[in-house]
This record gives sequence, C-alpha cells and structure tokens, in this order.
Amino acid sequence: MSTHLHNLTAAKKGRTQQSTPIEPPDLEDHFAENTFGIDEMRKRLPKTVFEGMVNSITKSAPLATHDAEIVALTMKEWAIEHGATHFVHWFQPLTGLTAGKHDSFINPTQVGQAVTSLRGRDLIQGEPDASSFPSGGLRATHEARGYTVWDPSSPAFLAENDNGCYLAIPACFVSWTGEALDHKTPLLRSIDALDRQARRVLRLFGEHVERVQTTVGAEQEYYLIDEEFFYRRPDLVNAGRTLIGCAPPKGQQLDDHYFGEIPSRILACMLEAEKELYRLGVPVKTRHNEVAPSQYEVAPVFEISGISSDHQHLIMITLKRIARKHGLVCLLHEKPFAGINGSGKHINWSIATDSGTNLLDPGDTPHENLIFLFFCTAVIRAVYRHQDLLRISVSSAANDHRLGANEAPPAIMSVFLGKTLRDIYDQLINGEELHSGKETDLFLGVTLLPLVPRHTGDRNRTSPFAFTGNKFEFRSVGSSQSLAFPNVVLNVTVAESLDYMATSLRNRLRNKDRHDPEVFRTALLHLVRDVATDSQTIFFEGDNYAEEWHQEAERRGLLNLRTTVDALEVMTSDKNVELFGKYGVLSEAELDSRMEVMLEQYDMSLDIEARTLESMARTAVLPAAAAYLHELTQTCIQAKKAGLSSSDGVLATAEEVNGTINAIRSAIENLNAQLAAEGDDLHAEAVRKRDHVIPAMLQVREAADQLEQLIPGDKWTLPSYTTMLFVH
Ligand code: ADP
Ligand code: MG
Repeated sequence: MSTHLHNLTAAKKGRTQQSTPIEPPDLEDHFAENTFGIDEMRKRLPKTVFEGMVNSITKSAPLATHDAEIVALTMKEWAIEHGATHFVHWFQPLTGLTAGKHDSFINPTQVGQAVTSLRGRDLIQGEPDASSFPSGGLRATHEARGYTVWDPSSPAFLAENDNGCYLAIPACFVSWTGEALDHKTPLLRSIDALDRQARRVLRLFGEHVERVQTTVGAEQEYYLIDEEFFYRRPDLVNAGRTLIGCAPPKGQQLDDHYFGEIPSRILACMLEAEKELYRLGVPVKTRHNEVAPSQYEVAPVFEISGISSDHQHLIMITLKRIARKHGLVCLLHEKPFAGINGSGKHINWSIATDSGTNLLDPGDTPHENLIFLFFCTAVIRAVYRHQDLLRISVSSAANDHRLGANEAPPAIMSVFLGKTLRDIYDQLINGEELHSGKETDLFLGVTLLPLVPRHTGDRNRTSPFAFTGNKFEFRSVGSSQSLAFPNVVLNVTVAESLDYMATSLRNRLRNKDRHDPEVFRTALLHLVRDVATDSQTIFFEGDNYAEEWHQEAERRGLLNLRTTVDALEVMTSDKNVELFGKYGVLSEAELDSRMEVMLEQYDMSLDIEARTLESMARTAVLPAAAAYLHELTQTCIQAKKAGLSSSDGVLATAEEVNGTINAIRSAIENLNAQLAAEGDDLHAEAVRKRDHVIPAMLQVREAADQLEQLIPGDKWTLPSYTTMLFVH
C-alpha cells in the first residue's frame, strides 16, 4: 500500500475508533473505583483493622498478622465482586519495568468443587523464582529463591482487560538473603531515612510531627505514532528508537506543535487512557502537545513518592496499552527520532509533613521563613555534594542521547533558584541584612484585563535542577525510566544533608539559650550561610545549553560525567557506599549489584541496537539502493540506444548512489567487526560500546541517511520521519 493510501486508512481507522469519555458528573464517582483504597477499606474492614491499615499507610507501622488475614479476605471479596479471577504481586525488578506472576483465587476441594481464597500469607508474601531477573551478581542462577512482600502503603488495584481482570498487589522484591532486587525496597527505605532526619530537624524548631514524606509529581513526555509505521520499522520494534532516518524538511522549527490543537485521534486515545487512570486513582491532571510533532505530555497531581512512583508505572503501562486500541503505538524512549526533541520526565519533588505542610514552600517572606531556609539549603547542599549520584540516577544508553544535546539539561548538575531566592542567598553569603524583593503585579496594557500576580522568578527550562516556587524540579530524568532511583537519590542525599545540618545546629546552640528566638535565629542563619557558601558553585541562573557554561562549570570544578559509562564508574565510590550504607538504603553489595545491572543494560541495549542496524542496513537499505542503481544504469543504456545526446545527469546520480553503496558496505563491515569483538568484562565492554560501537553505528547511519535522500519513495521501504511524525 502506498504511504499516501495508508495515511488515509490510518486516519479513517482513527475516526471509527469510538472512545467513551467520562461525563463530567461521573468524574468523582469513578475516581479510584478500581483500587482497594482508604474508602473501600473504611466501608469493608472492621474498625480496628482499618485503623491498623491507616497506621501502616501513613506512619509506616507494621500490620498485625491477624489483621492481614482479615484484609486478605476482604480484599479478595472486593476483587471477585469486581470480576477478578487472579491475584498478582506486582513488583518492580531492576529491568526498570513491572512484573508479576498471576495466581488464581481458585482452590479445588477434595469433592471436585472449588473455593476461592486469598490467605493472609498469600497477601503478605509471594515467592517468584528470582533467578531470571537481573540481580547484578547478588544471586547465582542456582540461587533462585526470592520473595515478593506486600507494600501496604500503595493501594491494591484491579488491572482490567477486555476479557477479565486481576487483583494487583503492590510489592517489594527481595532475595532469600534479604537483599533488595527491585526499585521499590530502597525507595521505601529512603523515605524512612528522610523522615527520621526531617523530624529531627523539626524537633529543633519545636515542631513535633508524626511523619514526613517526600512528594512527587512527574511530567511524562511521550510520542504517539501510527502502529503500521511502527511495525514496518525493525528499529522501533527492537530498540524503541529509529536507528536510521534523515531529518524531515519540516521538523519542530516553526514551534507550531507546542500546546497546539491536539489531533482528534490522539485526543480520543488520551481521553480513554485518562479515564482508565482515573479509575485506578491516578490523578492525571494536565495534557498537551509537546515541542516536537507527535510528541505529547501528561502530568498527574503530585502524591507521596512511593505512590507516585507506582502511579508513574501505571501511566506508562496504560498509555502503551490504550494506544494500541487506537491503532497507535506509544514511544517512551528518550530519543526516538534523531534531530527531533527527545522525551524526558521532570520530577517535581518536595518534602511535606503528614498534615500537608510543604516544607519547601517559602511563603510570602522567604527570608523570615527559617524552616524553609533550612530545608532549601539542605537540598542545595545535597545537589552540590552528590552531583555524581544525581547524574548516575538518570543514566542509560537512551538518556545519553538527551543529556547535553541542547534540548535537555546537560550532564553537568547545577541549581537554578530564580531571582527572589537567589537574592536571598546572595545576601546571606555576603553577610547583608535579609530581605525579599516584592514582585509587582503584571499590568498587561489593557485596563479591561485583570492584574496578574507575577511568580517570584522566571522559568529556566535549561536547568537540570530548578526551584519552581514551592518544589524542586529535576529535569534530567529519562522518559522511560522508573521514578524510583532518582527519587531514592534525592531522598537519601537530602537526608544526609539534614542530618549534617541538624547536628551542626545543635552544636552551635550548645551552652546557649536555644529557646531565645534571637539566639536560635542567629545560629541558624550562620549555619545556612556557611552551608550555602560552601555549596555556592552549584548555583547557576544562566543558559545551561551554552558552551560558555560548560567551560565555566569546568573552572568551578563541577562534575561533567558525559556518558553513562563515566557516571557508572563513580557509582560505588567510598563516598557513595558510605552514604547508602549509613542511612540503611542500600548495602555495598546492593549498590554494586545495581551498578552491574546498569552496565549490563547499557551493553545489551547497544548490542540490540547495533545488530538491528546492521540487519536493516543489509536487508532494507542495500537492496533498495541496488535496485535504484540498476534502474539508473539501465536508463543510461536505454538512453544511448534511443540515441539521446547525453545521459550525464543519470550517470552522475548513478555514481553518487554507487559511491554511497560502497560507503555503507564498508561501514557495515566495520560495524560487524565491532560486533564480533568483546571486552574482558562488563565495564570494558561498555567502554568499547561507547568508544567504538556507537561511532561505527553512526557511520552506517550517515550513509543510510544519504541513500534515503537519493532513493525514490517506491523503493525505500521504511516509513520516513515525515510520514511517522506528521500522519495522525
Ligand atoms: P509547572 O507548570 O510550573 O511545572 P505545575 O503546577 O504544572 O508546575 O506542576 C507540575 C507538577 O509539579 C505537577 O505534577 C504538580 O502536581 C507537581 N507539584 C506541585 N506541587 C508539588 C509539590 N509540593 N511536591 C511535588 N510536586 C508538586
Ligand atoms: Mg514543569
């Protein structure tokens, strides 16, 4: 089918796919109806058991075994009433995806009948074979025993399919020896670590709270393209990104896609995905077109970080699944199309008490808000001291395409504060009297229009780590990534800063009247000043894309871990082993294992890409080029026979095609030689992939992209960038 014809059928298909948006009055009723959440528990559980659950959710208190038995029974009844036949411990292995083994509720009895059951111990613990999940050397293949352990802080939910549904029970995944084999376990540990240190700090301020949590709202970018184009591109199927393809004449230069009208087939898909997410209790809130054609964004309202991490997985899974129902494929890869914007996932992160007080909210007079200054300074110190870990937490072969490619923040970490806050830190560091500048309302030049209150600072989208009013936004995270690891890093590094600053403040107040507000204020401001002074090289308010910044950052001694390999080389430094160990988040063996898994994933994903590219170049690009060359040479012969005076133009084109065929042929041979080699260990192999395999792939791509520009559309079998990006 010609591309043109196909475009038509694709568009028609979009029109016939009916989605059923929720009627506005139903929104509230449907929200979270597929979760066994607080409301459902209140309705169904005996009061004491319900209170036990609430305690375990809000205060991380363990649930009594007897209570778990009742919760299991009630949860099963609820799930079966809603059509569930199976239950699954839903966990997040180090693949970065989610996993689970489905068990039926059915148990046959001796008399040929069957009863349904979910015992307390089935709820609390599962036992999947751990040997086929990446463990980074923590487990040998024969050491297969692993456990999944129920995480009561995240509500169980119903995962629906057209033919039924199952009960998904969020869980952690650990080895028989108790080591974490997943992303959830360290996340929960890091939340506890931060909670302990934050409450310690608050006690110094005379505030007693029961629990401090981190809050996270993640903005997810993604592409939607027609599924037929997807299936005609082996690179998209195998690697999630295009390995060849020349830039379209019209890309994103007109900025006409950003926030533009959402094409109707796309909107139908979004509406259906959102409807499912509402029912799962995922508070998706905003949607819009992104900068690049066919790129979109969805963002939920923030939640406490354990739940937002689970919900982020549900967003990715749901987008992928619902896209297929609309004849689309959702691409979550960080860089599906070269030369066109990649996709990220901004993590908006803050710290809040159980009563909902946001500790990073400066209020109207930040210079007087001592709690805010303390917590904000702790975050700044954490980013400064642990630039390496923030970079490590977002590293992957895929994200290397974004970081530093002038569309996403560079691999260099820095903190953007915005004008008001930066002024306050400058005053502090310079020993000046503190005051906050007042932002005046904006007058728009038309008396009819209302005065608009102005934010305390402009935005800076080039910064990897920006203060955005009452939270920090970590922008380097990749679109396909689990939120968990970056979140762990934020939690544990800030916990360490809070610990350090709390101890320092206590020491400064020793032998002084700490209840005297002036004494307390002075000691605190001196501490904040000292910490800010030590960390100030991390402040940067300018353009992070500019080459001058890279030179400036180097002069300042900031880290620039350009690639995943550079980043992973410092992952298990003494500093990092001590940090994760001290706060009980990851043991040395666990940290080591994560580094190995990340290296392994880097190696394997590049291996898959290189093999896919080699095969596409040989089986799709070369045959098309050869066919065209044949046509050109035949034309020359026929032209001569027909007595045409000259066929120089055709001949020159044939030479060009022939030359590029020779070029791609030798590039393929070079790539093959690289594929046949192998490094001595994971690290050596990763270095080889970065330094030799990636350049060899680029060489093949360059020749292939040249051929794409020479060969007529009827011979070029791969959908072009223009087709994939502009046909909705
Ligand atoms: P912006 O457009 O400036 O990025 P939004 O208000 O649209 O800000 O918020 C972006 C994301 O930040 C949303 O997911 C939002 O829920 C989240 N967010 C807002 N406040 C907080 C907070 N206190 N903690 C964590 N995330 C937050
Ligand atoms: Mg934002």
